[in-house]
Amino acid sequence: MKKKITVIPGDGIGPEVIKSAIKVLEAVASKFNHEFTFQYAKLGGVAIDEEGTPLPQSTIDLCKNSDGVLLGAVGGPKWDTLPGHMRPEKGLLGIRKALNLYANLRPVTAHNSLLDASTLKKEVVAGVDLMIVRELTGGLYFGQPQERRQEPDGEAVVDTLYYKKSEIERIMKQAFELARLRRKKVTSVDKANVLESSRLWREVAEAVGSEYPDVQLEHMLVDNAAMQLIRNPKQFDVVVTENMFGDILSDEASMLTGSLGMLPSASIGGEGPGLYEPIHGSAPDIAGKNLANPLATILSVAMMLRYSFQLSEEADTIETAVTKVLEAGYRTGDIALNGEQVLKTEEMTEKVIDNIQLAVTN
Ligand code: NAD
Repeated sequence: MKKKITVIPGDGIGPEVIKSAIKVLEAVASKFNHEFTFQYAKLGGVAIDEEGTPLPQSTIDLCKNSDGVLLGAVGGPKWDTLPGHMRPEKGLLGIRKALNLYANLRPVTAHNSLLDASTLKKEVVAGVDLMIVRELTGGLYFGQPQERRQEPDGEAVVDTLYYKKSEIERIMKQAFELARLRRKKVTSVDKANVLESSRLWREVAEAVGSEYPDVQLEHMLVDNAAMQLIRNPKQFDVVVTENMFGDILSDEASMLTGSLGMLPSASIGGEGPGLYEPIHGSAPDIAGKNLANPLATILSVAMMLRYSFQLSEEADTIETAVTKVLEAGYRTGDIALNGEQVLKTEEMTEKVIDNIQLAVTN
């Protein structure tokens, strides 16, 4: 199989973890006889510095003209004081919108060998295997108006929570399709006791759910969902929710496993390529030191192979290699307990590649 991948290293540790991911892709290509070609694009701080904008048009064009997009991370203190439209995050929101990536998938899987890294009790976390499906291009983050106003009695502010029914339908369908490939349960999270938008969300969940009689649907209020994720996370399979609730719940869920450095994500849905990235940021505190955990980005590559290229055996091979490396006791600083030996980014990457090369394939 031949695939063209747009690579956006970004800022901070982005270029380091991306380098690891490319090496893993090359190892997979050689093992399974595929041809992956890479074209590089700029986004975020580096694009502001070199092109004067967080999202150059050339980046959008390159992404559209490829089969998948792999992103490191963007941002850092250097750009923190710029005005809103010039911030690195604007580039991130902009590329998601430009590619119409309305569904953000964040799997949270507890690795048995990392249970001690979680702040929760082992028995609560062991066996957690859930997927948060967050609506990514609508809701409060995009609705207009979004502004400060001077009113006769003083300053006021407005953000707008706006959804078209069709936007809710398409994200629901993604969630039900994913649940069919998993344990066949969807938890739709809303605030239907208060918000009109949530009442429509719930109606649409019911309507789409009726087309998937093999999948169990339950509704949960967002405040309860936040509590249940900590109390009993094993009850969840696929959790589908709107943009802002998903932003918050997915970060909460990420901590079940103990480290941001372990968690991949996929943003999909448009007609063009999907975008794959670790959920962590640019970690300026450890950037350039060969200390970053590359596993979240490596696992994002596995998601790209599975969801954009339908290469599930290759994706399984990467995920199994990561599990084996962890079972063998290899750790980067973020997931090491006191006294455990700590590997550098490049050493951890080599361990994963060794396991890919050794894997027995069908
Ligand atoms: P962060 O995720 O960058 O870092 C939080 C903590 O986790 C830091 O101590 C960091 O060292 C550690 N960490 C993160 N990833 C790690 C990895 N792979 N290996 C080892 N340790 C890791 O979050 P932050 O500090 O809040 O944000 C830093 C910058 O990143 C900010 O400019 C922020 O806007 C940006 N950011 C970008 C994205 C993105 O690109 N998608 C996401 C979140 C934050």
